[in-house]
Amino acid sequence: MLPPPPTYRGRLAPSPTGHLHLGHARTFLLAAARAQAADGRLLLRNDDLDSTRYHMDFVAAMIEDLRWLGLAWSEGPDVGGPSAPYNQSQRRPLYRAALAQLHAARLIFPCTHSRRDVLAAAAAPHEGGADDEPVYPAAFRPPPDAPLPPLGDPVTVNWRLRVPDGETITFQDGHAGPQSAVAGRDFGDFLVWRKDDVPSYQLACAVDDAAMGITEVVRGGDLIKSTFRQILVLRALGHAVPAYFHCDLMRDENGVRLAKRHDALSLRTLRTAGRTPRDIRRLCGVELETPQPLL
Ligand code: GLU
Repeated sequence: MLPPPPTYRGRLAPSPTGHLHLGHARTFLLAAARAQAADGRLLLRNDDLDSTRYHMDFVAAMIEDLRWLGLAWSEGPDVGGPSAPYNQSQRRPLYRAALAQLHAARLIFPCTHSRRDVLAAAAAPHEGGADDEPVYPAAFRPPPDAPLPPLGDPVTVNWRLRVPDGETITFQDGHAGPQSAVAGRDFGDFLVWRKDDVPSYQLACAVDDAAMGITEVVRGGDLIKSTFRQILVLRALGHAVPAYFHCDLMRDENGVRLAKRHDALSLRTLRTAGRTPRDIRRLCGVELETPQPLL
């Protein structure tokens, strides 16, 4: 007899860098609708890894906005759950253990080149936004048999994952269809731990998605390239790869992607202007089966 299919486990993973806007609302409503449709569970993860960029005031605001919108989760920083803690800032030991595993397997190397050096030496012009990494130049890579220094505690150099050059990484996106990228050409050796002793988003996200038993990752289409990197991290750590569903990004009337600087479209501003959660859900084109009542 076949084992029962795993219960769907999805997640909302906002970063507390500002107030949530309509674009976040759409992604999170879709994530919730997919979890509902699969009769699964949804958890809230607070991506507050980098204390230099994130502001704790935004965490409370984020939770309030999500609840106002009608979203509910069965696990999260405010309600606890079996995968606690749900704040990334409290999960460092897991990330550090993953880093040690990658180090022991000699899949990472220390890098002393600055982002500016990497940008200047990158073979191809950098197309990603400020948040994405340029393709790491092969010339900067140490030979695979170079002695590997200890990680250090605290970490004081950037550590990068050595990507399998020339390998095509593929996945089937639930929304965007088949995706593929060539390691070393479309993306290069990427950061797993920063020299200011902060784990990278790629590492933390992959470790958490595995540790929290996430079966489908629903997020914005701007993170598709990150998915290839996270697949490599998951593979290197021996974890299963979840399903992925990357949503279209919402754009303003000028075609500019909604970002947190679009204050007029923040959920707080819309709410103050008299918009209801139902208005927002309609604007986003997503309805939930049983929206939670207003707090
Ligand atoms: N916290 C990330 C962000 O807000 C998204 C993480 C993810 O969904 O993988 O951009």
